[in-house]
Amino acid sequence: MHVTVFSTKPYDRRFLEEANATAGHFLSFHEARLSTTTCSLANGAGAVCVFVNDEVNADVLADLAAMGVKLVVLRAAGFNNVDLEAARRESIIVARVPAYSPHAVAEHTIALILSLNRNIHRAYNRVREGNFALDGLLGFDLAGKTAGVVGTGKIGEVVCRILTGFGCTVLAYDPQLNPVCEQMGVRYVPLEELLALSDIVSLHCPLTPATHHLIDAQALGRMKRGVMLVNTSRGAVIDTRAALRGLKDGTIGHLGLDVYEEEADLFFEDLSQRFIGDDVFARLLTFPNVLITGHQAFFTREALTNIAEATISNITSFERTGHAVHEVSVEKIAARGQGKS
Ligand code: NAD
Repeated sequence: MHVTVFSTKPYDRRFLEEANATAGHFLSFHEARLSTTTCSLANGAGAVCVFVNDEVNADVLADLAAMGVKLVVLRAAGFNNVDLEAARRESIIVARVPAYSPHAVAEHTIALILSLNRNIHRAYNRVREGNFALDGLLGFDLAGKTAGVVGTGKIGEVVCRILTGFGCTVLAYDPQLNPVCEQMGVRYVPLEELLALSDIVSLHCPLTPATHHLIDAQALGRMKRGVMLVNTSRGAVIDTRAALRGLKDGTIGHLGLDVYEEEADLFFEDLSQRFIGDDVFARLLTFPNVLITGHQAFFTREALTNIAEATISNITSFERTGHAVHEVSVEKIAARGQGKS
């Protein structure tokens, strides 16, 4: 099958070519993000392969359908950037990689928690400058603290397991209880209770209309003063402007982000020779207690191998049967319950 691959980085190409070695699809790689201005690159292709910040909206899907594209394969689990209603109208099948390594994202979440708590990002710079003073680096024991996990699917479950191992009391909020989490002693509570009791709040729910700005000024107002807030899910689950106010007034003691609501114009590119035009993001960077990574939680060898293999098997299955292995559609979402990824 001829597949146009958008938002290609060298590592995408390497892992996809390895996975495609036996399948033999014709993959044409492009650095450009998919949008109305770039979708003509898919001319002649039967499928497009996209990532988290590609725009797969109604206009793009209409253009792709007109070109004869029948399949959109996401190299990701989240599909909030795809208009599934429009895909159905255009008879385009959408497929994703539902699970590639929950460990990759969960372990990165823990890396953010540990780094923020023990100020590793600041200590690294200090020591390199010959400054061995400890002032300002004071952390806290994780053992005995209460961690609140919002969303206990594949990633949230692993986060719960690791935090339980650290000796944390783990609270969870999820409309669908996960029996594995319950077995490990995680206690499900209403969101308000989780926010009120947690020293650390970690977000692992998908971005849906129900979770858009789930953490807004009101939610922040319910949290313990000095809470550590960590988001490795999707940027818009947090109202960033409200988080900025929370940082300024001390409501938020530490903020760890791997995702940002306006990340599409920043992340995955080397902008070091330019200036950052996003004032909200630039302001976030001024806080010593904010640690941001550029959507890298998924970025392990194991995850990239699994993503590439699942992507190629989605394409192969579609070519053979007209259906991908891991399809996502409005019907499937409705069947699983609103908001379930
Ligand atoms: P999953 O589908 O296994 O789990 C998501 C869980 O969130 C489900 O249990 C679901 O019931 C729950 N949920 C849905 N609505 C909710 C709500 N309103 N409040 C609380 N919980 C709710 O997904 P996953 O594999 O665990 O991934 C979770 C999210 O992590 C993805 O949707 C994606 O956005 C994000 N993600 C980020 C990266 C990264 O690199 N930063 C990588 C992979 C996934």
